[in-house]
Amino acid sequence: MGFSGAFDTQAWARMPFHFWTVTFFVLGTVVGSFLNVCIHRVPLGQSIVSPPSHCPHCQYSIPWFLNLPLATWLYLQGKCANCRAPIAIRYFLVELLTGVLFLGCWLRFGHESAAVAAIMCVVVAGLVVATFIDLEHYIIPDGLNYGGMVAGVLAAFFVPRLFGETNLARSLQQSLLGLGVGAGIIYTVLRLGKLAFGQEKIALEPGTRIIFGDTGLILPDREIPYEEVFYRESDTIVVAADRAELFDRGFCGPVTIRLSPNRLRIDDEEFDPEQVPWLEVSAAQLSLPREAMGLGDVKFMAAIGAFLGWPGVVFSLLASSCIGSVFGVILLARQRQGRSSTVVPYGPYIAAAALLWIFESPAITRFAHAWMGW
Ligand SMILES: [Zn+2]
Repeated sequence: MGFSGAFDTQAWARMPFHFWTVTFFVLGTVVGSFLNVCIHRVPLGQSIVSPPSHCPHCQYSIPWFLNLPLATWLYLQGKCANCRAPIAIRYFLVELLTGVLFLGCWLRFGHESAAVAAIMCVVVAGLVVATFIDLEHYIIPDGLNYGGMVAGVLAAFFVPRLFGETNLARSLQQSLLGLGVGAGIIYTVLRLGKLAFGQEKIALEPGTRIIFGDTGLILPDREIPYEEVFYRESDTIVVAADRAELFDRGFCGPVTIRLSPNRLRIDDEEFDPEQVPWLEVSAAQLSLPREAMGLGDVKFMAAIGAFLGWPGVVFSLLASSCIGSVFGVILLARQRQGRSSTVVPYGPYIAAAALLWIFESPAITRFAHAWMGW
C-alpha cells in the first residue's frame, strides 16, 4: 500500500479488524503522550508544540528514542535519563489509559463506522485532558470547552451516523440540542446550588484584623488557606471592612474587598493579587464561596452534549452526581481519620459518567426503558 493508498477505503476494509484494534491502542498511547504535555502546559499558558519535551527538573531535552509511550517510562523506571529525577506515574497512566480507551472506542464503534470510532477517540482524549487538568488546577480550560462544542457540531455535520442518523439536518439538530440541554441543566443546577450553599457568611467582632497572606487569610484566631476556598476562577472571598491598608495607601470608610484567584477588587478599583505584597483590613463580616460546580462545568457539559446528544447529557448529570456522592462519602471518612483533606473538583465525575455512556449507552437505555416502563 503506497502513500496514496492510505486514502483508499477499499484497502482499509481489507485489513483484518484486529489489525485496527492494535493500531488504535498504539495510536492511543502516542496521543496519551501528547495529552501529558497538554495537561502540564495548557494551565500554565505555555505552548504545546515548542519547546520539545524536556525534563522539567534539569531541562534535558528528551530525544525521540527516549520519548516512546509506555516503554520509556518502564525502561527508565520512572526516572529522568539524565538527572534521575522521578517522573510522575501520571505520565505512564495517562498513556495507558488513553491507549485502552482508544482500543475500546474501536471495539465499540469500529464495526458500525470507522469515522464514529475516530470521533469518539477525540472525545475520550478531551475527557482525559479535562480530568487531569481539573484534578490538579480546579479549572477546565475554555479552549478545550469551546473547541469541544465546535468540534461536536462539526462532527455531527460531517458524520450524521454519530447520532445514528442518515440525515444531516437531524444529526445537527441532535448535536445542538445536546449542547443546549447540557449548558442549560448544569447552569440551573449551579444557580440552585448557589441558592442552597451560596456564600458562607461569617460574622466577626467589629474591627477584626484580617491579613491577606501569601497562602491564606490570617484572622486573629485562625488561618483560612486559599486552597480550601478557591476551587474555581470565579470563587470570591468578600470582606466588608471599615478600613483597608494596601501596601502603599489606605482606604477609609466602608470598603468592600473581593478576592478571586486572579483578581483583587477594592470597591471599584481592580488589582492583580500577585502585585499586591501587603493588604490588611479591619472587618466585621467575611463571606466565603461554597459551591460544588463552577461555570467551567457548564461549558464542559455543553461540549459533551454536542457529541453525545441530550440523553447522554441527562445520564452524565445523574451518574456524575451518584459517582460524586460515593467519592464524597469515602473522602469524608478519610478526612475524619485525618488522612487527607483533598477536595475533588466536579469535572472528573462528569468525565467518568460520559465515558460510561459512550461505552454502555445501549445497556443503560435498555435498563432505563425497563425500569421506567417506556
Ligand atoms: Zn532530568
